[in-house]
Amino acid sequence: MTSAVLSIGFVMLHTSPLDVPGTKDAGGMNVVVRAQAEALAQAGHRVRIFTRRSDEETPARVELMPNLTVELLDAGPARLLAKGEHERVMEDFSRLLAAALAADTVDVLHAEHWFSGIAALPVAHELGIPLAQSYHSIAAPPESPLGDGERPESPGRLAGEARLAHEADLIIAVSEAERETVLARLKGDPDRVRVVPLGVDTALFRPCDTAECDEQRDWLRGGGRPEVILVGRLHPLKGFDLAIEAIALLPQAERPTLRIVGASPPDGDEYARALHESVVAHGMLTTTAFDGALRRRELAERIRSAALMLVPSHTETFGLVALEAAASGVPVIARDAGGLREAVVAGETGELVAGDDPAVWADTISRMLADTDGLKRMGSAARRHALQRSWQASADRLVEVYREVASRA
Ligand code: UDP
Repeated sequence: MTSAVLSIGFVMLHTSPLDVPGTKDAGGMNVVVRAQAEALAQAGHRVRIFTRRSDEETPARVELMPNLTVELLDAGPARLLAKGEHERVMEDFSRLLAAALAADTVDVLHAEHWFSGIAALPVAHELGIPLAQSYHSIAAPPESPLGDGERPESPGRLAGEARLAHEADLIIAVSEAERETVLARLKGDPDRVRVVPLGVDTALFRPCDTAECDEQRDWLRGGGRPEVILVGRLHPLKGFDLAIEAIALLPQAERPTLRIVGASPPDGDEYARALHESVVAHGMLTTTAFDGALRRRELAERIRSAALMLVPSHTETFGLVALEAAASGVPVIARDAGGLREAVVAGETGELVAGDDPAVWADTISRMLADTDGLKRMGSAARRHALQRSWQASADRLVEVYREVASRA
């Protein structure tokens, strides 16, 4: 594989690049795959994304842009499945993937999440295609604390992830934190893990210019309440309950309005209901907005209108929303954990807060909101930080890794 142009197959079994992030099980992984695939296609590489059909309507092949197609494989029922159910369709998916690639092969396969990796492994071996694996999240044993990350939603996950750490040709991590988890938890080989930093669309996520945001931001001039925003799937891992409790501790007159963007995952809305109940119990109903999932453009508008983003997630492999806030010139208060330590430059683009004490979070929120000059300064530093991270740079690094994986396989 020495040609300048690569033919790349992304394998994305359990969600589709056509799904709207913030709905179903779509989140950071969908944003990342779509952005990297588009940047690779733009650079002239031929990119195919293989995903499972989860509805009757979408055509078998969708061309997203020149050089970039999505191919739907009819594995399992043509309806949305709960995340854990995908384990049962891995074998079918694998068979269909092998047929698609036997007819038209690729130079490298890049599997996203473990379902895809386990489905792609035998195909890669059989057809002699090098395989790179991205986890996006690595499961922690059942009953472990939320700080250890997502628990496995189906029985094969822990063993499947460990197997991939040893059998995929290379592992691609999104942060040093994720690299550490691959080494410590999965006993991966340090020589076979590469970090490919994520990017952000700095044209979409941009600071507000004064005319546009005057109305929302008049708190800067002494009127209204500042707005604090939370963005993510409504899942306990995101720690949104802690943000509500922290804001509830602030005196009524000082409380910012709170905007919560994102929807429940398909496997349940108990957490969303608990968040609503907490908002009501703390008397914050009139100052809190639940927006549901928003499309990218509207989300970007909401982020840039906020004074501050909170990312209290118990852990994140990176925490893309923190980088999107930075690009929007919005400082972030994030938990001092996992990849968030790389997404936020503490003291410059935001602050990192350790632990679960709502009073500590409340103090940090109130201190930052009271210092409007500090917010502006951090917002500018955050924008500069984000401008150094383009998706094109992320795709360029991916190409280096793909060439390396091909030479090793
Ligand atoms: N997102 C979105 N609309 C929503 C909620 C989330 O587009 O309503 C996007 C968000 O902007 C980010 C991604 O979904 O790009 C979530 O990524 P993150 O790494 O923060 O979390 P993950 O979903 O991977 O746990």
